Amino acid sequence: MPELPEVETIRLKLEPRLVGRTLDRVEIDDARLVRPFEPQTVAAELEGERVSALERRGKYLIVRFESGRALLIHLRMTGSLRHAEHGALHEDPHRRAVVRLDDGSDVAYRDVRRFGTWLLLGAGELGPYLATRLGEEPLERGFTAQRLAKRLEGRRAPVKAALLDQRTVAGLGNIYVDEALWRAGIHPLRPAGSLAPEEVARLTRGVKEALRAGIRRQGATLRDYSTPDGGRGRMQDRFRVYGRDGEPCQRCGTPIEKIRAGGRGTWYCPACQRLEGDAASRSSSRPSRSSRQSSV
Ligand SMILES: [Zn+2]
Repeated sequence: MPELPEVETIRLKLEPRLVGRTLDRVEIDDARLVRPFEPQTVAAELEGERVSALERRGKYLIVRFESGRALLIHLRMTGSLRHAEHGALHEDPHRRAVVRLDDGSDVAYRDVRRFGTWLLLGAGELGPYLATRLGEEPLERGFTAQRLAKRLEGRRAPVKAALLDQRTVAGLGNIYVDEALWRAGIHPLRPAGSLAPEEVARLTRGVKEALRAGIRRQGATLRDYSTPDGGRGRMQDRFRVYGRDGEPCQRCGTPIEKIRAGGRGTWYCPACQRLEGDAASRSSSRPSRSSRQSSV
């Protein structure tokens, strides 16, 4: 499922195509996309709107209109957007909606599993809608170790589950949580509230670094995700732990293991990410930079 880096890649590619354009014709062919509203009603509401900005918050894509209204798109499992010049769109049985822009080009929405949603919000409705659903935006300056520590404080859930909760940090999913925890050297089953301040600081950096690495490689294409020009992401070739059980840890050489945490398949290095945390491993065998060099 697309996470922050995939949605941000889509945003970056679509922004120059969409901003300043008017939605000339809108076809919505799947009632699930806009329920409980009627597809024809939503399509008619969208026609004539002019795009003022394309933004992202967590995993939501936000199409802002000059009218003050906003279309909130969530891709869920398998949603994707494609931009095509006039007449260049080919047949696709999984297409759920097409927007014709006033330059003649099309933006098509495709969704195999059909869990994605389009929600048209009135002026002033967007802020309150997102505020109750999303926590800190991890790539903004406001996302600090202190802020993250507050969100984790007192929580007994595994840190993996706490990070999948969009109210802790917005935009993380199964892939980038595992990648961030490996970068931070934190075991996914550690109770969220048990992390020492130093560990939360490492986790804050780990989250930012894992997400930036994903954006640099235009996201990860595992199954359905593609960029709006039809390209593939390349992050799947650079995962440190995700999907790599049995392969050597890039830091210490120990085989990566797979467990379940937060209800999801979870990959981690049993040597770099100790369940006892820093306190127990400081005196024993936490891998150092020198042991990494000798073991790889
Ligand atoms: Zn390791």
